[in-house]
Amino acid sequence: MSAGTLPSDPRFGPVTVLEGPAKGRYPEGNSLLVEGEREVLIIDPSLGLLGRDGPLPTVARVLHSHCHEDHIAGSHLFRDVPWHFHELDAVGIRSIDALLDIYGFPGWIAESFRDVLVNQFHFVPRADPQTFTEDHVFDLGGVTVRALHTPGHTRGHCCFEIEWNESATPRRLIYLADIELTSFGPYYGDAWSDLADFERSLSRVRALEADWYATFHHIGVLEGREAFLRRLDKFEAKIADRENRLIEFLATPHDMAEIVEHRFVYRPGDAVSFADAVEKRSAEQHLERLVEAGKVNALAEGRFQRA
Ligand SMILES: [Zn+2]
Repeated sequence: MSAGTLPSDPRFGPVTVLEGPAKGRYPEGNSLLVEGEREVLIIDPSLGLLGRDGPLPTVARVLHSHCHEDHIAGSHLFRDVPWHFHELDAVGIRSIDALLDIYGFPGWIAESFRDVLVNQFHFVPRADPQTFTEDHVFDLGGVTVRALHTPGHTRGHCCFEIEWNESATPRRLIYLADIELTSFGPYYGDAWSDLADFERSLSRVRALEADWYATFHHIGVLEGREAFLRRLDKFEAKIADRENRLIEFLATPHDMAEIVEHRFVYRPGDAVSFADAVEKRSAEQHLERLVEAGKVNALAEGRFQRA
């Protein structure tokens, strides 16, 4: 245990998981503190950091897996140190309008989400984000953090590969960020999301060997590759599940408004202000490839039907 961590925080070598309330279920999340011999950094400061007992950890920099509200909610607690983002997502921290562009929600949804970003997630713009790209290594002294560009959730979404030696045995923990392995499944509902990129990123992380796999939300840290692959299989299967339910729904013709109302990502009762926008963006991406593959026909008046 060191400054800013609690006895209950799970530890893996130099990595401490600063667990959020409700195990990091959205809107909460789990931040990682990585302590090297020369330097300490924090990854994805979450809302939970605001309510923790005891002092905040002292860090030299803040790393972000991507620019989304829940991953930057505690960043303002570390205003005096550099904030790092992949070069494609860094623009989102410069202003609230730039961040709203990443989501791309229309009209009133964007306006109400603007309030949520400020009041619930403490959005504070930063004019000087530091950028990194694929394969950038942060060397903390005895422990390294390598960026793996895994787009799809956002354009600049990254996982981090954290490596160190334990009595001459190499150890590795992969931080998967919002490749979050929950039963919700992959989220690709923003303007800056891309389903095909997400699928390529899933293939990439599938090949990664590590001792531990950590996510931002409530799955926490999985030990060993088998446990990881079991979760990953289920997570990835949600994409085909949504697509199959969409094809089934289109046994009779429907337009986008009806597809959105039926819901394929969220459940009909989920009270999420931006659900309609996410359903539309997600369904558009499925429909585009289904039409291209000849599995769905685009009819007149914006309707679609199973081929
Ligand atoms: Zn996210």
